[in-house]
Amino acid sequence: MGTPFEQTQGKLSIVATPIGNLEDITLRALRTLKECDVIYAEDTRVISKLLARYEIKKPLQRLDAAMESKRADQIVERLEAGERVAFVSDAGTPGISDPGARLVAQVRAQLLGAKIEAIPGASALTAALSIAGLDTAEFIFLGFLPHKKGRQTTLKQIAEMVRKDSPQGGIPVVLYESPHRIEKLLKELEVLGVSRVTIARELTKIHEEVLSGTPAELLAHFAACPDTVRGEFVVIVTP
Ligand code: SAM
Repeated sequence: MGTPFEQTQGKLSIVATPIGNLEDITLRALRTLKECDVIYAEDTRVISKLLARYEIKKPLQRLDAAMESKRADQIVERLEAGERVAFVSDAGTPGISDPGARLVAQVRAQLLGAKIEAIPGASALTAALSIAGLDTAEFIFLGFLPHKKGRQTTLKQIAEMVRKDSPQGGIPVVLYESPHRIEKLLKELEVLGVSRVTIARELTKIHEEVLSGTPAELLAHFAACPDTVRGEFVVIVTP
């Protein structure tokens, strides 16, 4: 059980940052970063670019996945001392395939009634869905697939989920993927008989594009235009 947390004004803000275009940051996020006492960042070099763009100078501390638990203890102490602490991941919304969830859970467990606020903003997940042109009344988000153990099982489950004759009647499955593995993923989906995939690439950046087709068509596109196998990808396996 944690200790009661009523005496201090300490606050932890979980701040979403841009996923490419530095203008994609909310006024509230900027104000929070300007007013906090310290910023914890997944990578201080990455966030420094954003802070420089908006002329924000603050003490920075690294908090990546490997040190989340240890840093959480430190943040609890700061909150108890009344400090305002902001946490940002490298891009998008913390906690979404990024560090942040363990930090929040630990602070909540250790400080009853801790003030933890969400400063919402960009996420590759919602940006991709907003321009995919798909029926997204329902979807399943799986983030990054496991590289080895469990990968084939998960892929088979995805192929099943998107089938129109599945119990759900076919539901889009959203994945994050790196450029190194995008072609491998498409080949795997092709073998499993997946008929349609939508890829949102380089969202909010100059080369943003959405591609749709069978896995074989998308592989042919990447073979013809190797430049487009660069950048960051959201993959939506569609019914
Ligand atoms: N927390 C982030 C969010 O809210 O979207 C996601 C972080 S995760 C470590 C990074 C992955 O998100 C990338 O490998 C890619 O799949 C996806 N991603 C991030 N930025 C993107 C962009 N600009 N365009 C397409 N996908 C992106």
